Parts: sequence; structure tokens; C-alpha cells
Amino acid sequence: MDPDQQPFIKIQSLSKHFGSFTAVDSVDLEIYKGELFSLLGASGCGKTTLLRMLAGFETPSSGTIHIDGVDMTDVPPYERPVNMMFQSYALFPHMSVEQNVAYGLHRDGIDKQAIKTRVEDMLAMVELTDFRKRKPHQLSGGQKQRVALARSLVKQPKVLLLDEPLAALDKRLRENTQFELMKIQDQLGVTFIVVTHDQEEAMTLSTRIAMMDAGRFIQIGTPIEIYEFPESRLVANFIGNTNMFEGRVTENGVDHIVVQSKQPACEFFIDHGISIQEGTRVWVAIRPEKFRISKSAPESGQTNQMKGVIDDIGYLGKLSIYRVRIGDDKIIQITSPNLSRPKHGESLLDWSDEIYLSWDASSVVVLTK
Ligand code: ATP
Repeated sequence: MDPDQQPFIKIQSLSKHFGSFTAVDSVDLEIYKGELFSLLGASGCGKTTLLRMLAGFETPSSGTIHIDGVDMTDVPPYERPVNMMFQSYALFPHMSVEQNVAYGLHRDGIDKQAIKTRVEDMLAMVELTDFRKRKPHQLSGGQKQRVALARSLVKQPKVLLLDEPLAALDKRLRENTQFELMKIQDQLGVTFIVVTHDQEEAMTLSTRIAMMDAGRFIQIGTPIEIYEFPESRLVANFIGNTNMFEGRVTENGVDHIVVQSKQPACEFFIDHGISIQEGTRVWVAIRPEKFRISKSAPESGQTNQMKGVIDDIGYLGKLSIYRVRIGDDKIIQITSPNLSRPKHGESLLDWSDEIYLSWDASSVVVLTK
């Protein structure tokens, strides 16, 4: 990103109260042109309310929204350079695909030939040219979704707001459509803001993600930053699976720290240059894929390894998920790619096998909140 680039959308101290309830709590946010920005968080955290304020359907209780340098406070929804695609696609059932897509342009009084060209281009882009005469009830969920997308984009908004755009699609279609959305976004350079509670979807689609909780942003960053460098237990637990160990810092070296956990008793050596005062209570977070699992003891020293027993195995083909019991009552989850093929009728690791887990000193995230 160009460091001198000005934010295209600038939200300052924005709040929304419904009576005594605060749905959005004094948030600040800057979004740049051409971003595919996701708002991610649990149900009720304020994502949709924020999106509706951007669209102009909800009036902020306080704070401001600027889009392309213009204060939106007194700008009604239909005059904003913004279009919103709703959770339920709300297509007109009695109109064909092309009539649905053309509807907004007719209403704006654009001349017929220009409408025809724009609708044709848009249907080609979402690969629905052959379906243009069909009515919504003759389409699959994914096709309806693409009609809704074409209808939102045909008016060439500078910002497209999408509320759970892929929620109605099955997994495979959702994955395909995610890539389609990214392609379209890339071709048109529109700024997309997507509301979702599906973390995988946010990870795949987004240039950046804002994690919301109780009306506030708890972390904003690229998918890699959010996944690999969560700043709190809340973010670490919401995005992907993670194994959490509570402990205390026992050594604060120049380029490393050591954390001792009690249950299970384990020493974690962390070498990525963090510094936390000795004695501080911390949580050590390790993602399931960061563990190495083996039947023989790893060679390296005493730290960054633990012994366990396989409690459960989920075989997913390309990888297996192991639930491993450490000590009496700690269960941790590990994913391991199935790199080698077992002999027919056998498996490489089995229930009740005693195993060793080890991990790199750089794979550990240390959280203080
Ligand atoms: P979901 O993922 O379930 O759609 P969300 O994060 O989009 O959730 P919002 O729809 O923004 O959540 O709602 C945030 C909070 O504000 C919720 O607790 C909701 O009940 C409340 N809320 C939303 N609209 C209103 C309203 N018009 N009146 C009162 N409370 C509202």
C-alpha cells in the first residue's frame, strides 16, 4: 500500500446507542480505496449496525463518517457513493435476471442503450449471460447470489457493503464465490466492506480484518497478523483453533523469555525477542498445526516439548486432527498433514498411543490479556 495514500473511508468516534444499549462504541477506522475489508465478530457485536450507518440506513448517535473526503452526516442513503447487498438477496421475484440487474439504472433515468450495455457486461462478469431470461425461482442459491452482486455493482458504487454475502451458499459454492468476489473486486477496484461471522471466509477474502467485540474493535490487521499475531486471548480463540496454557514468566532474557505453566507442568522457551517482566501471568497460545507429533522423544533439551496420549483422531484425508491428553485433564488439539501413506489397513498413529509433542520457539504467541 502507498504510504501517502489517503483513507477513502474515515470513521471517527462513531457510536450508536439503542436506548441505554450501546451497539457501536466510539470506533475509529480508516479504509483505503480498493480494499476488501471484513468486519468479523460474534453475533450481536455491532457489525451490521456499523454497516448500516455507512449506508445511511442508521443515524449515528455521535461521531462522523467521511467517504472520499465528504462528510456523510447529512447525505441520505441514495446519494451516498455506497451500495449495500443484504443478507437475504431481496431479488424481485416477478422480474427476470436482467430486469433485476437493470432495475436501479432505470430508476436513475439512464438511457436504454447504456443500460443494455452495462447489464450485459455485468452479467458476463458474473457468468450469468445464459441465465438472463430466468426468474429468481429458477436459479440456484449461488446464481441468485451472483444476480444480487451484479445488481449491486451495475450502479458502479465506490463502496459496496456486503452483509453475510455468502451465508446461503454451501461450502463448495461459497469457496468458489469467494474467489469470484476477489476477482471482481480486483477488476473493478471497488472498495468492499464485508460483514461476516465466518472466520475462514474473512481470512480468504480480506486485505484486512477488523475483529469486533461488544461494539468495539479489538484488533485490526491483515489475515496473517490476526492469525499469527493475535493481541488477546479473545482474538486468538475466535480466529481458528488454538491451545492455551496459563503460566508465569520465569526468565526475561535479552532475546527470549521462558514461561512455566502449571497444568500441565511445562517450560516454554520463546525466542522472538519479546520482553515481559518476570513473574507476570501470561497465556501461551500455540496453534494446532505448529506442533510436531512423534512416537519417539525429540532430541532438543527439556523445553518446548511435552508427552501425551492420543485420546481421539479425526481423519480428514489430507490431514488428521489429534486430540491429545496431557497429564490428567488437559486436552489439546493438533493437526498434522498426512505426509506419508500408511500400509493398507494400518494407521501411523493410533488411539491410546503415547506420543511426544514439540514445537519451535518462534511458533508460540504470548498473551498478557
Ligand atoms: P449478527 O452477526 O447476529 O448479524 P451483528 O454483529 O451484525 O450480529 P448488529 O445487528 O449490529 O449485530 O446488532 C448489535 C446489537 O444491537 C445487538 O445486540 C442487537 O440486538 C442490537 N440492535 C440492533 N438493532 C437494534 C434496534 N433497532 N433496536 C435495538 N437494538 C438493536
